[in-house]
Amino acid sequence: MREKLVVGNWKMNGGLAANARLLDRLVSDWQPTDGCKIAVCVPFPYLGQAQAALGGSSIAWGAQDVSAHPSGAFTGEVGAAMLVEFGCRYAIVGHSERRQMHREGDELVAAKAKAALGAGVTPIVCIGETLAQRDAGETNAIVARQLQAVIDVLGADIGKAVVAYEPVWAIGTGRTATPAQAQDVHAQLRAMLTKARAADVALLYGGSVKASNARALFGERDVDGGLVGGASLDADEFLAIARAA
Ligand code: PEP
Repeated sequence: MREKLVVGNWKMNGGLAANARLLDRLVSDWQPTDGCKIAVCVPFPYLGQAQAALGGSSIAWGAQDVSAHPSGAFTGEVGAAMLVEFGCRYAIVGHSERRQMHREGDELVAAKAKAALGAGVTPIVCIGETLAQRDAGETNAIVARQLQAVIDVLGADIGKAVVAYEPVWAIGTGRTATPAQAQDVHAQLRAMLTKARAADVALLYGGSVKASNARALFGERDVDGGLVGGASLDADEFLAIARAA
């Protein structure tokens, strides 16, 4: 059976004092349970703080992006080997906010996933359609294109990645995909992964996951947990979502 995974994406939020309170609560209140792992992806400057607070606990941590390049003249970028020095297990790649606001395309996202894996960091590859694309009936084609671009570059190593289906219209909007809508897309993604001999890849759902809707979403056959944005900033809410998994 596939293990559940719930990952918090703090986005560009936090500060040393607030982070310390949140991380302490997670460490003291999260009871490791069989079959469910949790992690938080924090802004780069707080990776050391996450490492100090979570090291030795059952909670993993990671970054929200990674460079496609190993090192060199790439001002502002952070390489995968640097993430390893801070104990990161995960790096989110291809989040829709980066695809939209930083014009990251499929090719770059796949290169970032490859760079992460090359250093031993698990990429959490985000894919998802916009509302206009869903309304135009293009959801399946869009997510297939986004996932295939990563499979093409990683080959069999896609089996070492995590994939997060995040419909853009559900991120930070309070509007969640119904469990049936999520399962529909996840089933398609599972079929693609199965064809790539990676049927057991963790397929997370992301988009306004809350304690009140997590159980229904995570109950779907091909939903292996969640990528949680806003709700991961509240310890009670995030822990309740993790417990629902
Ligand atoms: C996200 O940032 O990946 C996300 C899913 O955000 P939210 O849960 O706030 O919709």
